[in-house]
Amino acid sequence: MGDGPSIFTKIIQGEIPCHKVYEDDLVFAFLDINPLSPGHTLVIPKEPARTLDDLSDESAQAVGRVLPRISKAVLKATGASEFNVIQNNGPNAFQSVFHVHFHIVPKMEDGRGLSIPFKSSPIDHDDAAQLSSSIRDLLD
Ligand code: AMP
Repeated sequence: MGDGPSIFTKIIQGEIPCHKVYEDDLVFAFLDINPLSPGHTLVIPKEPARTLDDLSDESAQAVGRVLPRISKAVLKATGASEFNVIQNNGPNAFQSVFHVHFHIVPKMEDGRGLSIPFKSSPIDHDDAAQLSSSIRDLLD
């Protein structure tokens, strides 16, 4: 979690090699070096934001615009028909590289891909009314 350029910035700049799949003015995408399944791809903004909540609207828009197109190409290239997009923020939320990235992870018929032990519980409607109101106020 140093303050220098992240390993992903070094990849964008060509200082560290990668298997590049896409690049435009604001976005870069390449294969994950430790894939959960074949075609596991990382889509990143060139802007060196550490977490999604720090990303500019312009970069967010640019990443969002190409995610479906890159996903479609990854599916076609791997033969998968299902996939997950996952995006981690903070070490306790499984982020290990502190440069915003979206994982595109094909789910293969043999089970390779993402497995998530979701632990959910039913919503408390009183809490939810307060929380949704707070979030709405903060978005104004
Ligand atoms: P996260 O845990 O969400 O921060 O994911 C970081 C991802 O970056 C992991 O899946 C790593 O395998 C991947 N990664 C780390 N270094 C490299 C690299 N040099 N080239 C490609 N992928 C990398």
